[in-house]
Amino acid sequence: MAEFTMELNDEQKEVRDWLHGFAADVIRPAAAEWDEREETPWPVIQEAAKVGIYSLDFYAQQYFDPTGLGIPMAMEELFWGDAGIALSIVGTGLAAVGVLANGTEEQIGTWIPQMYGDANDVKVAAFCSSEPDAGSDVASMRARAVYDEAKDEWVLNGTKTWATNGGIANVHVVVAVVDPELGSKGHASFIIPPGTEGLSQGQKFKKHGIRASHTAEVVLDNVRVPGSCLLGGKEKLDERLARAREKARQGGERVKNAAMATFEASRPAVGAMAVGTARAAYEVALDYATTREQFGRPIVDNQGVAFQLADMRTSIDAARLLVWRASWMAVNGKPFTAAEGSMSKLFASETAKKVTGQAIQILGGNGYTREYPVERMHRDAAIYTIFEGTSEIQRLVIARTLAGVPIR
Ligand SMILES: Cc1cc2nc3c(=O)[nH]c(=O)nc-3n(C[C@H](O)[C@H](O)[C@H](O)COP(=O)(O)OP(=O)(O)OC[C@H]3O[C@@H](n4cnc5c(N)ncnc54)[C@H](O)[C@@H]3O)c2cc1C
Repeated sequence: MAEFTMELNDEQKEVRDWLHGFAADVIRPAAAEWDEREETPWPVIQEAAKVGIYSLDFYAQQYFDPTGLGIPMAMEELFWGDAGIALSIVGTGLAAVGVLANGTEEQIGTWIPQMYGDANDVKVAAFCSSEPDAGSDVASMRARAVYDEAKDEWVLNGTKTWATNGGIANVHVVVAVVDPELGSKGHASFIIPPGTEGLSQGQKFKKHGIRASHTAEVVLDNVRVPGSCLLGGKEKLDERLARAREKARQGGERVKNAAMATFEASRPAVGAMAVGTARAAYEVALDYATTREQFGRPIVDNQGVAFQLADMRTSIDAARLLVWRASWMAVNGKPFTAAEGSMSKLFASETAKKVTGQAIQILGGNGYTREYPVERMHRDAAIYTIFEGTSEIQRLVIARTLAGVPIR
């Protein structure tokens, strides 16, 4: 087990500086353009692929960093550059993690490379769980997967929504109901290979922020995939369903005293994205406050401005500490007895929303225009309190974990 440390080692510092350079030189200068265009920034993804940032190797290296700091450090730097473009770069990683976490070695080896493509022909992947009537309430999911034993195929029907890269992905990972009696325990994940008939893109959403990231509905109309596309395989699924049925027969699940490990492990990564956006806005505000003069002195000489900056920086540092702690816990298999992963996401996302708003205030009229990046950062920051579980759901998870009542 790696000791918890707040100091990056030399190798991590090198990676951080390299990522920061890419974020500053390639991502940030392209941010305003792709925000206006509201399109996937393929040339930037391609650039990231060329230098090795958009690749499974890079992602896996950070994911398996024993200190737990690899992913949060990478997310913070890329999202410091720009949230919409960074999400276009890391969105595939979210789908890849779904396969890494639940897939067999063969599935990992077959599908993850197809999610990324290569530097000359980049591809993206999508993770599709949310539905129009099943957002926070995942258990009310309706998309169905039915096994056709004669053909060893799964048949999927339903509508997914809010899918990052949905419809433009080479590989889609889709969560569907295999046993409606079991609520969220009756769900399973499927790979939908490139070009599969019956999968189509529905509405593409025009969004408030992260506009460079493609978000769309995904319609599944009698989508047939081979049995081998069930993540983890049929045997494992049957065993899991049998255990869930047995538990249901015994009168429901026993009270847990630790939050669900999978979500707790993935949420700090979103917290780190929020820290990146918050830090970016804070830096712009600090720079502006020390150079903009009113009443014959820099505006930072006014306590009303200086104290805001002090609070902004304090919250950002506190958010990063919560994110790093939770990431370290996840990598080292520590039980999340106080839902520390949810805590980090809650605090960091609320911090990003607040800090980016404060940055607009410090820049005055300029902050409100698209001549300066903080209004975009403020629009972008709003997503962090919504996706991967809203702030209300994080509070619910934290509270239920503390109280020792089951989290559904
Ligand atoms: C840009 C974007 C990208 C996304 N990317 C993906 C993706 O790639 N894949 C994917 O599967 N999903 C994705 N999502 C979906 C996202 O995870 C959901 O939007 C989110 O889980 C909230 O669900 P909902 O929008 O249906 O809101 P709802 O669940 O309808 O919630 C509406 C409001 O009610 C509150 N609320 C609901 N239940 C409770 C409760 N019990 N107690 C207190 N308050 C409650 C919520 O906090 C929220 O404020 C994305 C969403 C967006 C906007």
